[in-house]
Amino acid sequence: MILLTALVAAYMVLFNILYMATPWNEFQTHLFTGLVLHPAGLILWPLIWVRAVRWTPLRTSLTLAWSAASLLISGAVFVAWVLLAAATGWIEEDHASAVCVPLAMILWPLGTVFIWQDRHTDRAARSREAQRESVTCPGCGYALSDLRSTTCPECGRTFTVRELVVGRESDEPISRQAD
Ligand SMILES: [Zn+2]
Repeated sequence: MILLTALVAAYMVLFNILYMATPWNEFQTHLFTGLVLHPAGLILWPLIWVRAVRWTPLRTSLTLAWSAASLLISGAVFVAWVLLAAATGWIEEDHASAVCVPLAMILWPLGTVFIWQDRHTDRAARSREAQRESVTCPGCGYALSDLRSTTCPECGRTFTVRELVVGRESDEPISRQAD
């Protein structure tokens, strides 16, 4: 939300500067402002989220598809706006670019929020990953992750590091007598 507000504010500032400083018309100025700022959003927004998001192949494809779709939607709105302005005169044709260029910049991050948000399957996968990372006693299942020795304080058996790793991967109890 802060990023979106900042982008809109930057957009208005840059647009006004360019509009005053260049001989471009409104449309050209909007287009150029969008071309400069949209990539900034495209880079900054994922940078904030990239570590928090679980990147599944589906999510990656949806993100790419949405990048194209959000531009297409904005383009369609632009065409519709111009046609409607020409046909009815209710809206100004000149405003089409003022609406559609910022629209493309805002649509994309909003859509990615829905694509990137954690779903039930993500939480399940995360908890499976967390369990895989923890080291438990192959004999009794006691959590050994935070211990400084490989002797289980619960059942008293001692394991080599290899046995702890193998026991974790196979998830099968290792039958071994206490030393
Ligand atoms: Zn044990």
